[in-house]
Amino acid sequence: MLLADVLYKKDLTRDDLIYLLSLTDADEMQALYDRAYEVKAANVGRVVYYRGLIEFSNRCIKNCLYCGIRRDNDEVERFDTDRDDILAMAKWAYDNQYGSLTLQSGERQDEAFIDYIEGLVRDIKALSHGELGITLCVGEQDEAAYRRWFEAGAHRYLLRIETSNPALYAKLHPQDGHHQWQVRKNCLDVLRAIGYQVGTGDMSGLPGQTIEDLADDILFYRDMDIDMIGMGPYVVHHNTPLGKAVVAQGLDSAEGKRRRLELGLKMIAVTRLFLPDVNIASTTALQALHPMGRELGLKAGANVLMPIVTVPKFRSQYLLYDNKPCVEDTPGQCKNCLAARVASVGDTVGLGQWGDSPHFFHKQ
Ligand code: SAM
Ligand code: SF4
Repeated sequence: MLLADVLYKKDLTRDDLIYLLSLTDADEMQALYDRAYEVKAANVGRVVYYRGLIEFSNRCIKNCLYCGIRRDNDEVERFDTDRDDILAMAKWAYDNQYGSLTLQSGERQDEAFIDYIEGLVRDIKALSHGELGITLCVGEQDEAAYRRWFEAGAHRYLLRIETSNPALYAKLHPQDGHHQWQVRKNCLDVLRAIGYQVGTGDMSGLPGQTIEDLADDILFYRDMDIDMIGMGPYVVHHNTPLGKAVVAQGLDSAEGKRRRLELGLKMIAVTRLFLPDVNIASTTALQALHPMGRELGLKAGANVLMPIVTVPKFRSQYLLYDNKPCVEDTPGQCKNCLAARVASVGDTVGLGQWGDSPHFFHKQ
């Protein structure tokens, strides 16, 4: 079958997903991105929605082998942002018509943390007269915590499955009983049952990950009825077990990075073809691998950006991977820079809007 036939096919099969994700010819990959952009324009519009990202704490009880803020990375100076500073950043986002916020941190499950998030969500809702949408991205929790936060006003939750392959997940996490794929998947089920718009995603280009695994990640998004997808390439952090192994094997060469960037972009494009009405983020990790990474993501079918609104003094302490962009920028600089990036693609910014996933409403 010709590439054009697959690009315009209505119901893509697993084999089609594998075929598209396997493309390596530059013209063929461009045809894939162009078609995905058409599908985005037709289904979610050429409008990019912002989720101002406040990375408010890098304390984490987990030890994911790839992540720069894992518990055992003792090079990291741990921080908690003062509540007033978070509220000031939220107010800034509201005044600048960001429409919605994502609160992200390392994982904690203690009662004080659960209370703290609940109060924070209520305060942000109050200061924005209920107008700011709130996405939480604070890891695995029990149902009671997710429910309290939903009732406080959070309406979206992002929890990446990281990979839909449990055996690969096991290789990327310590086998200490606290990092279990099935527990993470159950959290997604609970979040959906509570009523959240549910986001998940993967990392692409992980050592040991196959193209079939990536195709299965996309099928997982469909099977889990996911509303929004935040995925991106794996990027090395030098002081992590996985990062050290990847560097030692020579896999973090320029060629290795180019391959991971390409996989990240192909994942966006193929997901857009397969799930036309979901929200897909063009993530910062793309830009860690290419100066125009986020524009390329928008051109490949993504429709969400997450401008960093983290308090500037803490940005350099929330490093999940090396070469994280925007660390030196103020929120104002990020805003202007992203507006220019969106305009360069030919999209517009959906200022002041939540930009909810159309998929969430299509299934109501
Ligand atoms: N702690 C929460 C959790 O894990 O769900 C939320 C914050 S965590 C830092 C957000 C995401 O960062 C993870 O889901 C993971 O996919 C991503 N991440 C961590 N290390 C990364 C790396 N080296 N390269 C790319 N993404 C990474
Ligand atoms: Fe903690 Fe999330 Fe990093 Fe895992 S990915 S170590 S849970 S911050």
